[in-house]
Amino acid sequence: MARVYNFSAGPAVLPEQVLKEAAAEMLDYQGTGMSVMEMSHRSKAYQAIIDQAEADFRTLLNVPSNYKVLFMQGGASQQFAMVPMNLMKNKVADYIITGQWAKKAWQEAKLFGTANAVASSADKTFTYIPDCSDLPIDDNADYVYICENNTIYGTKFHELPNTKGKPLVADVSSCFLSEPMDVTKYGMIYGGVQKNIGPAGVVIAAIREDLITEDVLPGTPTMLRYKTHADNGSMYNTPPAYGIYICGKVFKWLLENGGLEQMQKVNVKKAGILYDYLDSSRLFHGTVVKKDRSLMNVPFVTGDPDKDAAFVKAAAAAGFVNLKGHRTVGGMRASIYNAMPIEGVEKLVDFMADYEKKNG
Ligand SMILES: *Cc1c(COP(=O)(O)O)cnc(C)c1O
Repeated sequence: MARVYNFSAGPAVLPEQVLKEAAAEMLDYQGTGMSVMEMSHRSKAYQAIIDQAEADFRTLLNVPSNYKVLFMQGGASQQFAMVPMNLMKNKVADYIITGQWAKKAWQEAKLFGTANAVASSADKTFTYIPDCSDLPIDDNADYVYICENNTIYGTKFHELPNTKGKPLVADVSSCFLSEPMDVTKYGMIYGGVQKNIGPAGVVIAAIREDLITEDVLPGTPTMLRYKTHADNGSMYNTPPAYGIYICGKVFKWLLENGGLEQMQKVNVKKAGILYDYLDSSRLFHGTVVKKDRSLMNVPFVTGDPDKDAAFVKAAAAAGFVNLKGHRTVGGMRASIYNAMPIEGVEKLVDFMADYEKKNG
């Protein structure tokens, strides 16, 4: 068996320890004689799994008690609709457009009301985060929306926008649990878990309780109301049970490894190794404004699409896979989520430096 270094943007690398534990428990989960995949979600054993997962998630992010934690389905993209359906009481919201995921969320919100684009970095292909210290926030805006880490373009909000008192809603899919965050600064955070936490399909949200009401847009289906999930402990219907179990194992792995403070230290170091090399390389160049760089997704180019393709191929042959950039931007992208070991990045940089010597 040979594991590769997987730089996929998502679904992405998971901690080996978690995969091994899941394998060991596949046929018999803790004496139940069955896999978690085969278990009733109404069983005691499963209730303990989801309760522990929620408790550990709360511990990791220090989620205040006036926030509900919800495990839902439909991926991050379903939230593009659920956010406006549930939160657009005045039918107005302000969106900050820093990439494709923010743009998709903004376009979806327009189906439900007035969605203003109050800032954008589209003018420079989303290679920076716009100044959000004094935006023209609409007096009637129900919320201000950001995509906090832009998976495709490799930018991150290192400072949150000034929302002028409006609740901040953030898609944190690709920076989820990569560093500590102050949940009290948000009305809601949510993320698809397949970038940094677990198997695709699960989405986790933390929502301030006062934002979870019956007062949703007319016609909002039962399954798309936060209140439905909040009132039923994320088990109104069958939850993505196995996926949540794996997320729970990743939470335990994070707690055992020093929590999010320690994870942030490792992630800063890991990304630093790659960015330092890119800053010194004559063949490869990072594409993002330095102060806005993501710790999780690192896009880079040679400036020549043929050279890019040749590098991606050579890297894959050497065991560094999924380095091709997003289909809409080209070039390369190394996604270096929590579970990417530091040796993975060190070895990638060694490989790149060697490749540069031979092909520079
Ligand atoms: C991947 C991603 C999405 C889309 O997630 P799905 O689960 O495929 O819907 C949305 N937002 C961000 C920031 C992402 O990285």
